[in-house]
Amino acid sequence: MNCPECDAPISVPDDAAAGELVACPDCGADYEVARSGGSLELKKAESIGEDWGE
Ligand SMILES: [Zn+2]
Repeated sequence: MNCPECDAPISVPDDAAAGELVACPDCGADYEVARSGGSLELKKAESIGEDWGE
């Protein structure tokens, strides 16, 4: 699975639960794991807000 933003590989466990949060190790973007039709996808986590300070 690759980061939609920067295409860096993100390791998402095969048994990750929908709604689980993962962060891109490269650009630091946060994503929420979603399941669609049995496959995993990453949705940008909007609930974090726009705290780009770190
Ligand atoms: Zn990234």
